[in-house]
Amino acid sequence: MARLILGIESTAHTFSFGYVDTEGKLYSSKSALFKPESGGIHPREAADHHTIKASNLISQLNSDENFDWKDVEAVSFSQGPGLGPCLRIGASVARGLSNKLSVPLIGVNHCIAHIEIGRNETGCNDPVLLYVSGGNTQVIARSEGKYRVLGETLDIGIGNMLDKFARNFGIAFPGGPEIEKLSNQFNTDSINFERISLPYGVHGMDMAFSGLLTSAIRLVEDGENMKSICWSIQEHAFASCIEVAERAMAHTGKSELLLGGGVACNSRIREMAEIMCNERGAKAYWPSKQFCIDNGTMIAELGRRMIQSGIITQLEDSAVNPYLRTDYTQVEWN
Ligand code: AMP
Ligand code: MG
Repeated sequence: MARLILGIESTAHTFSFGYVDTEGKLYSSKSALFKPESGGIHPREAADHHTIKASNLISQLNSDENFDWKDVEAVSFSQGPGLGPCLRIGASVARGLSNKLSVPLIGVNHCIAHIEIGRNETGCNDPVLLYVSGGNTQVIARSEGKYRVLGETLDIGIGNMLDKFARNFGIAFPGGPEIEKLSNQFNTDSINFERISLPYGVHGMDMAFSGLLTSAIRLVEDGENMKSICWSIQEHAFASCIEVAERAMAHTGKSELLLGGGVACNSRIREMAEIMCNERGAKAYWPSKQFCIDNGTMIAELGRRMIQSGIITQLEDSAVNPYLRTDYTQVEWN
């Protein structure tokens, strides 16, 4: 009988349970996505959503034929970074389950979980990670026992920028997929670059998106076509990320690029990644969509790597850390 690691994700909008077996086989997550009725994500409301959804998600696990509580060897959970009230729900459920099942608890770094599930699923080994999600935008590479942040957003996350733009024009969360659809409907034959040009936010190895957001909103309010602006937002924002990722590859000498985070579901950023990598004799990878967005399976996968290198979390060390940094965690697994 396969032994399993259970993973619980609750950093922001998504509450999710997933599992992997001890050999690293990945199973689909059971997830619930909080969608605010209006405005952005209120941490308390998202946490209430997670609390309400917990029993339903656990029932889904119960009726999954591949899953049996008797096989669970450890329970891992997102310890940070994320929204405090949301993180605390996931951590509480994880502590309760670990206690009830008498198995170890493993607090994991959410950002690193995006890397490890990508490495597992795609088979890439030592990539530069372009992590593009709702709240985070980072270019990361492993060096001397840590995943180092080589560049990151100086203001808002790229997904957050897409969601805010969409919300401004009545498009519900998550806005990224809808912007992608509208952008695909834009006919680039009729392009007038001057009218739809936006601020390009690359500052050394860092990125910025709030100026682009403000300009894009203003252009649409001034009557510019929505589809053309969606296209332009994608071109500018994605190109800035790919530029920084390329420089990171050049500096570190690495020849693999791995995309991660919800925005990595987007076909255009995947295409840009592929073009850039082809041009420098490197290779681009991305996980399947279910593992790009936040999911419990990635938390289980990082938990698996940690426990297999002897790392577990004592109850007294299991407090969440909303400000946990990618480069804080010592990486002791291969
Ligand atoms: P995460 O925080 O990693 O779960 O990712 C959620 C973010 O991914 C949200 O900001 C979404 O708008 C964004 N997203 C999801 N699918 C797409 C897509 N196809 N294109 C662009 N952004 C996307
Ligand atoms: Mg994420």
